[in-house]
Amino acid sequence: MEVRVTSPTSPALASLHDWHFEVDFEGIAWAILDREGESQNSLSRRVLEELGEIVAAVEAETAAKRVRGLVFISGKPTGFIVGADIREFDDFKSEKAVADAVTQVTALLDRIEALPVTTVAAIHGYCLGGGLELAAACRYRIATRDDATRIGFPEIKLGIFPGFNGTVRAIKLAGPVAAMQAMLTGSMLRAPVARGMGLIDELVPSKHHLRWSARKAVLQGRTSRSPSFMKRLMTMTPIRGYLAKQMRQKTREKVREDHYPAPFRLIDLFEKHGGAPDRMKREETKAFAPLMVSETAENLRRVFRLSETMKDLAPKGLFKPLRAHVIGAGTMGADIAAWCVISGLEVSLQDLSEDQLKRAAEQAKALFKKRLKTPVEVEAAVARLMIDPQGDNIPRADVIIEAVVERLDVKQKIFTSVEKRAKPTAVIATNTSSLPIEDIAKAMQNPQRLIGLHFFNPVPQLPLVEVVRAPDTAQEWIEKGCSVVTAIGKYPLIVKSVPGFLVNRVLAPYMMEAMRRHEEGMEREKIDDAAKVFGMPV
Ligand code: NAD
Repeated sequence: MEVRVTSPTSPALASLHDWHFEVDFEGIAWAILDREGESQNSLSRRVLEELGEIVAAVEAETAAKRVRGLVFISGKPTGFIVGADIREFDDFKSEKAVADAVTQVTALLDRIEALPVTTVAAIHGYCLGGGLELAAACRYRIATRDDATRIGFPEIKLGIFPGFNGTVRAIKLAGPVAAMQAMLTGSMLRAPVARGMGLIDELVPSKHHLRWSARKAVLQGRTSRSPSFMKRLMTMTPIRGYLAKQMRQKTREKVREDHYPAPFRLIDLFEKHGGAPDRMKREETKAFAPLMVSETAENLRRVFRLSETMKDLAPKGLFKPLRAHVIGAGTMGADIAAWCVISGLEVSLQDLSEDQLKRAAEQAKALFKKRLKTPVEVEAAVARLMIDPQGDNIPRADVIIEAVVERLDVKQKIFTSVEKRAKPTAVIATNTSSLPIEDIAKAMQNPQRLIGLHFFNPVPQLPLVEVVRAPDTAQEWIEKGCSVVTAIGKYPLIVKSVPGFLVNRVLAPYMMEAMRRHEEGMEREKIDDAAKVFGMPV
């Protein structure tokens, strides 16, 4: 084999915008994705067109025996590929347009899969959706153990499922049980978990090891282990039918088919074609296209965009809370404290009632067991939650959240004391639903400091937190409040201190209408059922 360092061979490769392509002195081709003008890599139309150029070059070079392997790696410091570029999704107006575009991509991935040399995806950071589908078309996948590395198929959250033949390749690599679970839940897996499933072949300690390990994988001609007999068995009839039935049942417990059709279409696809990969590839496109142009997908994309906008409300790097103090261990306080612990914070919890504190600690432990994966994580979480009846930890806290009874005098008294004891940098917030922030703040020396952090019940399920601004609240505290909210994985929504803030104001007309119907003689159960059908589970 002739080895040499080459710069791009064809004129098209010399003018790539989003990729760098080079063949090193050992004959390894490196396709480095670094999207121009973007902080993250996603698969846009141009990225895919340029990938086509790269694949054509590698095909030619391998035929001429000048390339012995191809490595996909990211040029961004933080991530591999976050998925297809969602901003382009709305351009597709018809099922046919979707199917045509998708078929071009699947054909390209088939060509990568068919390359006669070792192909490696070297992954650090997010490897999601279309990024994982590209990786799955390679012969070998290496990922960093780093906590920032997350592997997954989040498509279901956008009302679709993997559409670049990822359904077929994921099932081949991980077997139908694990692969379908990953696709149906959209969960972002840590690298060791993805390795356990078979989606990843090798783990390395950090991103500094990636290139070296990818090089070794090419030189040694590594490929994924072939799927176990058990994994293959699970794709056969009648087991497939049995699995599909179970999946359908579980999915129905979580979502309604008329609101969220994508998981049900994915299960249908697996049930009908899961035993015949080639057919499943074609059928995947047929089932994918209508979902992509559906109203559900359009709405979920809107939700996604809004959520991203809300996350941007918190200025990056301004403030990162490590310790929280929660006053009040009732319905809300107990859950707020537990949620902060789950998000990695150290939390002290204060209440007048010992019984309430005891109950809150038990409730928190139950939540940790449900939400955290390993007993070690649960134990660590239990250790991060401190019972603090006197509020001794107030001076150490970065954020203090009050969630006691809804009484103005009680809250005022608490904040005059908290203000004196808190660090000057600490965020001071109330979870009040109905008292004006400015009234509670009146008794404080610096009333501009108090903000509302209005959580919703049940806290673990509901992602929104209203950050309430009174007429005189200083902007600094609102921004810091938003940082607290994003630090615990929720979405901040800045609202005015007016009755009902925003969400309860929106809810009020629905409640009024329900009340009116009831007064007119409609049964409560019927109204409740109608609300559920409309999509209001609580
Ligand atoms: P709750 O009655 O369940 O709990 C209040 C807790 O505060 C009790 O455990 C009580 O012992 C404790 N407490 C009372 N005075 C105290 C003091 N001086 N120091 C320390 N602890 C004290 O109330 P909740 O439903 O959790 O509501 C708490 C706050 O959250 C209220 O302001 C409410 O408006 C707001 N909120 C409630 C909901 C909801 O759905 N329950 C939703 C959003 C906001």
